[in-house]
Amino acid sequence: MLIDTHAHLDDEKFKDDMGEVIKRAIGNGVSEIITVSSTPGSIQRTIEIVNTFESVYGGVGLHPHDAKYFNKQIEQDILDSITKERIVAIGEIGLDFHYNYSSRDDQGRALRRQIGIALDCSLPVIVHDREASDELIKILEEFGGKMTGVIHCFTGDSDMAKKYLDLGFYISFSGIVTFPKAEKIRNAAKIVPQDKILIETDAPYLAPVPMRGKRNEPGFVRFTCEALAKVLNMDFEALSGITAENARNLFHLK
Ligand SMILES: [Zn+2]
Ligand SMILES: [Zn+2]
Repeated sequence: MLIDTHAHLDDEKFKDDMGEVIKRAIGNGVSEIITVSSTPGSIQRTIEIVNTFESVYGGVGLHPHDAKYFNKQIEQDILDSITKERIVAIGEIGLDFHYNYSSRDDQGRALRRQIGIALDCSLPVIVHDREASDELIKILEEFGGKMTGVIHCFTGDSDMAKKYLDLGFYISFSGIVTFPKAEKIRNAAKIVPQDKILIETDAPYLAPVPMRGKRNEPGFVRFTCEALAKVLNMDFEALSGITAENARNLFHLK
């Protein structure tokens, strides 16, 4: 059993064949998928997807790219949606200082508010970090280690992993661990305690080897699990079981 803890099923690349994609994932041993929202419009879309497919759970929130759109209405949309069934997290939220599509101030503001909602509602957060670790850790520390959550698509080194682990976070690895140049990330994976590791696709982005260059989809999470199992010197079945159990614990999946 595998759980893809981070996919963007609302992406238009899945518009025409989402049912097929999910069927293929199940055929590849994926029992659950967590689809995350990113734009203002995708919050409602996430609820529709979750309502349509039994094996799909959802995260609601505004991605740092769209942080400039965060306002009272979005906040209300998030609050309304977390009362729905199978909405299990606030995400994806975070900081992205690579693209800076929203100003750093707007990103910080949206992130703090959304962490506040997660804490008020006792939900885990799904956090995106791109070239923003120092500022992100500062903000997470402001909340005094009270929240639970995951650093998704982790791309840091062992030191960085340690800092997030110390804050109580899970670390999620994507298809990047299959890339030849990702030695630093594979080494970081070795220091993550077994009860803190998650796996994800971040589909439709970042297809793992041997699917690189194609549209990524949740069924491909098995390639990430295979690669990570090798790094950790574990059986595929053992790692898939452990990561699935971790996902069930963090997101309280039924
Ligand atoms: Zn992300
Ligand atoms: Zn994502």
